[in-house]
Amino acid sequence: MSVAEIDLEAHRAKPRAASFAAQGKTTLIGLSKAELGEALASIGIADKQIKMRVSQIWNWLYVRGVSDFAEMTNVAKDLRAKMAEAFDISRPEIVTEQISTDGTRKWLIRFPSHGAGRPVEIETVYIPEEDRGTLCISSQVGCTLTCSFCHTGTQRLVRNLRPEEILGQLLVARDALGDFPNRDAPNGAFIPESDRKVTNVVMMGMGEPLYNFEAVKKALLIASAEDGLSLSKRRITLSTSGVVPEIYRTGDEIGCMLAISLHAVRDDLRDILVPINKKYPLEELIKACREYPGLSNAKRITFEYVMLKDVNDSLADARDLVKLLKGVPAKINLIPFNPWPGSNYQCSDWETIERFADFINQAGYASPIRTPRGRDILAACGQLKSESERMRKTERLAYEAMMIANHGE
Ligand code: SAH
Ligand code: SF4
Repeated sequence: MSVAEIDLEAHRAKPRAASFAAQGKTTLIGLSKAELGEALASIGIADKQIKMRVSQIWNWLYVRGVSDFAEMTNVAKDLRAKMAEAFDISRPEIVTEQISTDGTRKWLIRFPSHGAGRPVEIETVYIPEEDRGTLCISSQVGCTLTCSFCHTGTQRLVRNLRPEEILGQLLVARDALGDFPNRDAPNGAFIPESDRKVTNVVMMGMGEPLYNFEAVKKALLIASAEDGLSLSKRRITLSTSGVVPEIYRTGDEIGCMLAISLHAVRDDLRDILVPINKKYPLEELIKACREYPGLSNAKRITFEYVMLKDVNDSLADARDLVKLLKGVPAKINLIPFNPWPGSNYQCSDWETIERFADFINQAGYASPIRTPRGRDILAACGQLKSESERMRKTERLAYEAMMIANHGE
């Protein structure tokens, strides 16, 4: 397969990104409506106008997807100029965009350092499938947790992403995929929801989203606002290693779908694979899942389970898994382990994975084994490019194939 590393400007119908967040200006992206109102008041917009201006600007930002005040044609010119002086609405800098022959896309996105020393880079991946298009978003650069099978776990936390940076990943993808109204078409045609490319979002990139709760919450509430980006909360899935108190908060304050990186069904093993288990053991974790609001057969929790050869892949494990999840509306996502340089684990044999899947299937759980996507572009969600490049090619392909396999549900 050939890798399409494309020239961004040449391939965009009309480049939207003014790029490079302007230094020293307040960003309007990621602000709640109340905060947006405060920002507008701070540049002298009269109280009685604030509500109207907020809804105008909200519409420009999140329905029409503009990244330049000059495009806000129903706002007076002098006000546009005033806003441009004080505020920033530009897109983050896209370093590269790669398109796989199977349609998977990957963007390497750079954000300013914001105190982290150097600018930081993260990857965002888009995975098209027949009935949906899923965008995999990062929440942190690096991770404080140290799950023993995870490459991100070997990297220190550089910093949390800000709300505008989490949201920025969705805006960049919608720009590139043509999900915002096409200003070149007659009447600036809107793209009906059924024709949009990004139908689902998964917080499964780099980082532990529940260790950056406030920023993730803000971004997801804006992503799901009906009068804006309007992604249904049923189509947003947040994956966590099991930060129990914030699982309750996620249910109460965000209301999106939940995925749990389970990976082991006994505390002694999970303490090693997912060390946060020492703080929040299985019993507490499953209790939080059981109590997650609104669960039903149609709204189930996804349990991610990485298949590690001779570690967690026996039929006894499968039996215990079924027992553990009894009464929780659940689907189980089996992930073939994705090796990386220096990792101490191997992926289970294919027959073992199938046997495991059959067992839990027969117990009544959907148990998809993910098929790899975007092999040719190393679409390893959440992996810094520089990190990826240090791997040998074969390792990279295996790594990427397995990471991407995890992002479809
Ligand atoms: N920190 C969150 C979000 C990351 S999602 C979490 O842990 O849930 C990334 C998913 O990929 C998690 O389920 C993680 O456990 C899994 N993963 C990490 N490294 C992997 C590897 N080498 N092979 C397969 N899956 C892996
Ligand atoms: Fe962090 Fe998730 Fe990797 Fe664990 S699996 S180290 S929580 S990114």
